[in-house]
Amino acid sequence: MDTRTSPFRLRIERVRDALKQHGLAAVLVPSSDPHLSEYLPERWQGRQWLSGFTGSMGTLVVTLDAACVFADSRYWVQAEAELAGTGTTLVKIATGNSTEHVQWLAANVARGAAVGVDGSVLGLGAALGLRSALDAAGVLLRTDFDALAEVWPERPALPAAEVYEHLAPHAPVARAAKLARVLEAVARHGATHHFISTVDDIAWLFNLRGADVSYNPVFLAHALLDMNGTTLFVGAGKIGVALQAALAKDGIRLAPYADAGAALAALAASATLLIDPKRVTFGMRQRAACRVIEAINPSTLFKSRKPEAEAAHLRNAMAQDGAAMCEFYAWFEAALAEPSRGQPGAQAITELTVDEKLSAARARRPGFQGLSFGTIAAFNANGAMPHYHATPDSHAVIEGNGLLLVDSGGQYLGGTTDITRVWPIGTVSDAQKRDYTLVLKGTLALSRTRFPRGTLSPMLDAIARAPLWEQGLDYGHGTGHGVGYFLNVHEGPQSISKAIPDAHMAMEPGMVTSIEPGLYRPGRWGIRIENLVLNVAATVADGFGEFLEFETLTLCPIDTRCIERSLLRVDECEWLNAYHATVRQRLAPLLTAPEQASALAWLMVRTEPL
Ligand code: ZN
Ligand code: ZN
Repeated sequence: MDTRTSPFRLRIERVRDALKQHGLAAVLVPSSDPHLSEYLPERWQGRQWLSGFTGSMGTLVVTLDAACVFADSRYWVQAEAELAGTGTTLVKIATGNSTEHVQWLAANVARGAAVGVDGSVLGLGAALGLRSALDAAGVLLRTDFDALAEVWPERPALPAAEVYEHLAPHAPVARAAKLARVLEAVARHGATHHFISTVDDIAWLFNLRGADVSYNPVFLAHALLDMNGTTLFVGAGKIGVALQAALAKDGIRLAPYADAGAALAALAASATLLIDPKRVTFGMRQRAACRVIEAINPSTLFKSRKPEAEAAHLRNAMAQDGAAMCEFYAWFEAALAEPSRGQPGAQAITELTVDEKLSAARARRPGFQGLSFGTIAAFNANGAMPHYHATPDSHAVIEGNGLLLVDSGGQYLGGTTDITRVWPIGTVSDAQKRDYTLVLKGTLALSRTRFPRGTLSPMLDAIARAPLWEQGLDYGHGTGHGVGYFLNVHEGPQSISKAIPDAHMAMEPGMVTSIEPGLYRPGRWGIRIENLVLNVAATVADGFGEFLEFETLTLCPIDTRCIERSLLRVDECEWLNAYHATVRQRLAPLLTAPEQASALAWLMVRTEPL
């Protein structure tokens, strides 16, 4: 590429022109939107548009003479490739949440100069941290600079997909009951009003779903609750007449999406507003002139603890999802084994084929609504990039020997799935088997653990890493994330990771979390084995308090051909055999149609005890 004419280089130049016009030395472009979502509507994918780096997390900083993307190890290979020739450089940071860009700005912007940022997409907590770091360096912060508005002429409009109801029986708790419970919590905090911007909280609270964001069935809205009723700020025309009437019955009025800030500004001086500093933007916080109490959204806590009726639907969704996996893998293994494979004229099986066929198998399952994230099908070296995505321009043909990593999931009316499996292709080396077995030992160790109720979830992280740490190995991502119920595949508050724990990360009954240790050999192969688990009460001896354990929800064989048997203890083999017996028993009844015979046969073989 002629680097002088890279479109990204020209876009960064436009940003610099805007900086000069506004008297700024630098601008910060976070991966963020007014709802602080992880997956952004296109309108807020400005960091991607400006830099060319398409990873889902990363922060762009542009000064008059430098441009940097800050990204963690999941994205380093991808970022280096995508940023080549753009003039923007990669700064490698420890984790997705680290704030190296803040220190970088403090160190690289001259004392007395100003940094601009769009405060309407910056989290309140993040904005205050940024301000104090820049203050200490004598650098000014201006929060009213929206670089995207200035330099992005064809910037996409707000998404306009229709909002629909998540109905009983899949939504077992009525919205009126959820609203009443949240308002009780608001009153307990001593607040009269509560403002919510996070779209998954809003979708959960109102039993509504939408399609404004890829993979997450959410819609853009803010909500303002008080004892006299609830206002939902949502784009015109997104909620049909019948749904409006249903909402009105529950005391919910609609207001234009753009009016949320004005409604906060209009709160009486006597009002006390509860907001979550991690889940409301600096821009919105600035609008409220009344007294403010900061605390986690009550809905975030309630949403994470799935009632038994939701868990029951989730178990069914997991079985449907597992049956789809069996149908896919049965087809896949048979197709790879065809004698014509590799002959001239034979259709190649690629990473894209995996995505296409697996998605089609899921789509045949009852209750399926869509994928819960973009499928990661990664062969050999591609598997070493945890967030790799095959594209029509760049993908591997699955042939020869090695490991295929597939991380995928579905949205069902009765829950959200997320599963990673690794499959042997051709012959697997001893080194690959050893790595696979060590990762499996991590998944097993955490799946089998028991812990006192209320244990802070980050404390559990080391249990999955221990078998790898013992060998001087590790992985650069978290071990597990909370999972929504027909909602976002990543949700808080719990997180099994190296995050610094806070009290809200306590493990409570009903939480659904992933367990997904991995091991990545750059340029060679990657391994990750992921199940979703439910926090359930454990029976233990008296006198030591209440304990929890994990019920493994994910139902799909874990490949045993990649296992190095000498590394597995007897009790680990027994756990795996018991798991496979359950998988067989639960999935076989969903594979009884004549056209599913090969999938059933595959299930039987892949669930044979060790
Ligand atoms: Zn996954
Ligand atoms: Zn996951």
